[in-house]
Amino acid sequence: MKNENGYFGEFGGIYLPSYIEKILLNLAEEYEYVKKRKAFRDELKRLYRTYANRPSLLYFAERFSTEVGCKVYLKREDLNHTGAHKINNVIGQGLLAKHLGKKRIIAETGAGQHGVAAATIAAYLGIQCDVYMGERDICAQKPNVYRMKMLGARVVAVLQGQGTLKDAIDAALENYLRVVDKAYYMLGSAVGPHPYPIMVRDFQKVVGEEIAFQLRKTEGRMPTSIVACIGGGSNALGAFYRFIDKKDVELVAVEPAGKGRLSGRHGLVLGTGVRGEIHGYKSLVMKDKKGRIKKSYSAASGLDYPGVSPELSMLKRNGRLTLGEATDKEAVEAFVKLSRLEGVIPALESAHAVAYLLKNKKKYKENDIVVINLSGRGGQGRGKCL
Ligand SMILES: *Cc1c(COP(=O)(O)O)cnc(C)c1O
Repeated sequence: MKNENGYFGEFGGIYLPSYIEKILLNLAEEYEYVKKRKAFRDELKRLYRTYANRPSLLYFAERFSTEVGCKVYLKREDLNHTGAHKINNVIGQGLLAKHLGKKRIIAETGAGQHGVAAATIAAYLGIQCDVYMGERDICAQKPNVYRMKMLGARVVAVLQGQGTLKDAIDAALENYLRVVDKAYYMLGSAVGPHPYPIMVRDFQKVVGEEIAFQLRKTEGRMPTSIVACIGGGSNALGAFYRFIDKKDVELVAVEPAGKGRLSGRHGLVLGTGVRGEIHGYKSLVMKDKKGRIKKSYSAASGLDYPGVSPELSMLKRNGRLTLGEATDKEAVEAFVKLSRLEGVIPALESAHAVAYLLKNKKKYKENDIVVINLSGRGGQGRGKCL
């Protein structure tokens, strides 16, 4: 994929004041340098194995397969240390922060999974960590707030805006800019200005590489389809990347339809978005009639974001993605169904991908192989909040 200067076709780039652009271009250079070093790559591989518990299982879901009428495998990112794919990314960025000699990590979080992952790697590396989190998310995700504090991180409540992920990113970026020399900004998804979309995708692509290897061993062939939920797009890109050039592998991006496409309360960024600017990069974004960024919504905090990975925006424009969607209600039904049929409780985010397959099972034939990227584990309770 061509991405000089951090562009994916007409998407990506850096749209921030020039002094920040300089810092980011410098970060991009540092990253290009370390990623080629054998010591960095070896350390990344070692931590994937010894710390994150990789490779994650590729599990044949027999009873679920019978239910939908094709061969379904679950890529078990929920079994990683800290319970989601987020650990893959923070290990990479944590090693980069250490290489840069940073003394502090600043991160944002939605559902709290990235915050927990960032706090975890910060503890491992012995670096101070501040996590910015919307007030509404703090209320809904108490167990993750507890975990972050247990790990020694400072959780900063963000009161502005809707008190969700977008506002947390706004506040985290604002605070980061005051301490850029000392701090490393650890972004949790394949979004944001260059070089984050490239870095995060690079640290997540191990997921798809493992899927290809594991399926070759068990089935001797490529999957028919890979299905993943879309928040910022990191678990999806991680699972898809290995297969982008394999044109007969269908890549299904499942977005949160929230209370329904027609209600206007959803997060269908690839599905309904237009080209625009958010958090310092260009991508498909949700806009209102006046051209302002529109509120997104999903019951799954991790999917509630009005922007998306610029690389996924490009893949959508190029016709490489199959778009899917699932409402809150469909995701909850899928959550219960997978739990009861397989004894695997998915994150509500991941349940959107499961719901897609339940809704579209007629599309697939008995011998088709569908891999669902089970991005994280669920069932740890959420509060009822505004
Ligand atoms: C954060 C998160 C997501 C959404 O983020 P992506 O960058 O789109 O992957 C999805 N599932 C889980 C379990 C998460 O923690």
